[in-house]
Amino acid sequence: VVAIEVAAKADARILPRGFGLDDALFEHDGQITKREIRALTLAALSPRRGELLWDIGAGSGSIGIEWMLADPSLRAIAIEADARRAARIGRNASAFGVPGLKIVVGEAPMALAGLPQPDAIFIGGGGSEPGVFDAAVEALKPGGRLVANAVTLEMEMVLLAARERLGGDLTRVEISRAAPLGAMSGWKPAMPVIRWNWTK
Ligand code: SAH
Repeated sequence: VVAIEVAAKADARILPRGFGLDDALFEHDGQITKREIRALTLAALSPRRGELLWDIGAGSGSIGIEWMLADPSLRAIAIEADARRAARIGRNASAFGVPGLKIVVGEAPMALAGLPQPDAIFIGGGGSEPGVFDAAVEALKPGGRLVANAVTLEMEMVLLAARERLGGDLTRVEISRAAPLGAMSGWKPAMPVIRWNWTK
């Protein structure tokens, strides 16, 4: 019997197991859910063994990728209207070692038709476009979780109406980061994010 010591590759990317991976680990064009918001979003999505996530308006794919990294039994479908971003999602999935991430290039709600029923849905883009929000609510499994983030007033209105109609929790998160301010430092605020989460 021979035991072999496996040494870490010198240039290996060491990934922590918690939610909220550094934005810089993802290839992105600025349209990415920032790590602090992403951590809260994943916590609200609360993956359970074997579940399927729809990541609508997937951008860089960061939400679906972190969902899949939480456990090898988890599955995700990234829906993204922009073909260049969809290709980028594929590169990110492969760099993070989750080649099983399914990528659908197309516009919700049309692109959602015929996909397997999800246990959880994240709406990160397209949520204020006609029919998208209602299609997500309709498709979700009973008992499933829906989490939607808004940075635009249009999407915020959708979420205020959702709370009126369906209940759920509405949260507003504001993050500031310390950054250079002249010769000193100051707080640089990011746009506030309104989050709605709801169990069907
Ligand atoms: N959560 C993502 C960022 C989302 S940015 C991340 O962490 O990387 C919002 C994305 O939604 C954009 O990439 C935009 O192209 C996409 N989008 C907007 N409307 C859409 C629609 N109707 N269907 C699918 N994707 C849409």
